[in-house]
Amino acid sequence: MIPITIALFAALAALPAQDVVPVVKRVGLAVAMIDRAAIEDTVRTLVGFGTRHVLSRTDSDTQGTGAARRWLQRRYEEIAAASGGRLTVELQSATVPCARPGMPREVPIVNVIATLRGTTDPGRIYVVGGHYDSRNSNGADGEGVAPGAVDDASGTAVAMEACRVLSLLQFPATVIFVAYDGEEQGLLGSAAHAKALAEAGAEVDGMITCDIVGNTLGMDGARYDRHLRCFSYAASGNDSLGRSLARAATYAATTHVKEFGVELIFRGDRYGRGGDHRSFFEQGFPAVRFTEPREDFSRQHQDVVVRDGRRYGDLPDYADFDYMAKVTQVVVATLTELASAPRAPLVLSAQLRRDRYDTELVFQMPPGVERCEFVWRKTTEPDWTGVVDMRTAGLETVRNGRLRGTLPGVCLDDVVVGVRSIGADGSRSRVATPQEPDRFDQRRAATNRERAQPESGK
Ligand SMILES: [Zn+2]
Repeated sequence: MIPITIALFAALAALPAQDVVPVVKRVGLAVAMIDRAAIEDTVRTLVGFGTRHVLSRTDSDTQGTGAARRWLQRRYEEIAAASGGRLTVELQSATVPCARPGMPREVPIVNVIATLRGTTDPGRIYVVGGHYDSRNSNGADGEGVAPGAVDDASGTAVAMEACRVLSLLQFPATVIFVAYDGEEQGLLGSAAHAKALAEAGAEVDGMITCDIVGNTLGMDGARYDRHLRCFSYAASGNDSLGRSLARAATYAATTHVKEFGVELIFRGDRYGRGGDHRSFFEQGFPAVRFTEPREDFSRQHQDVVVRDGRRYGDLPDYADFDYMAKVTQVVVATLTELASAPRAPLVLSAQLRRDRYDTELVFQMPPGVERCEFVWRKTTEPDWTGVVDMRTAGLETVRNGRLRGTLPGVCLDDVVVGVRSIGADGSRSRVATPQEPDRFDQRRAATNRERAQPESGK
């Protein structure tokens, strides 16, 4: 690291929140602070605990899950000490019955949670996490070696490094960094966290899980280190809150991260598999998963052995720490944009002008927010292709503070339109879209089916 960068960064971090520093500058300096060596140290230290299985020992300082979480807590506390009291660290414990068959007993599930409280809108929350628990070929083995370097010391290290860098800045919204426990046994730690947030009435505007973000050598021998996959859930259609969050990640990566991309995948997770973002989706929060492009299945959930001359096991020797640093850049860019930006507008309605092919959008801006822009894409396009500033869209006030923007030549029948808030520093919120008019009404469909089959239930 160059000392000048540190000095600049320190000067920037010390600026009062009301002094407007362009978000592009804040992200640029934060990204420059990401330390590949710190990420590697986290991964190798976690692997050094032998196993981090939920059933492993908790009474040792060098081996097992207890040692691992105490080390994670200490590292987060060191980061907090450098943050001037803005970052706080806590352990969240839950005793949950083990979901996996063959698990002999209930175990405590312990998440390590670091919270960077927002300055002016702390009730709006963004979460980034990885899971620190690991497993080998036998899901119920709490004693055998389970290094879990890529699954998921990599994601745990990415979340921690993002915390180290972002805790030097201030944001209007709150950012929470988590090392989750019990993912391998059925998303136990994240389920407890998401449930607690939902029960507290928290407004989680986005959750990113980084899970399996460290292998770049495909089983085909090719190198895949230029992008990450972003999986997002949707109950129906392609404009769920999760997809909106996913497109905020592509925006941040395109704007701030060089030579590295985010590939949108419109599926909740890899085929038939799961991760901690699911826990947040199930509570109704926008949530996505970041994962490497090509997983090496000879590493994940494997005993460390040599079979037929081939080494198996999730060892750090096969992890790509430069790649993890790139993933951290995407996380830092996405969270800096979203946590700096105002809330997204509230879209009330959209209609096509009947005298020409213009789209009108009626919406409400969050209080005190003065700038926004409109975006659109064809219904079959994955990401926004058109953008127009509100000044071009001829913004008018209709009534009760509601605004109407007109998108000239954008035919609503053929596109999805949306609007996002822009902060004074140029940061962008998620895009808010109007509800699709032909949403499938499940209740009505069920009633219709009942009417159509009066004999059913015999
Ligand atoms: Zn995992």
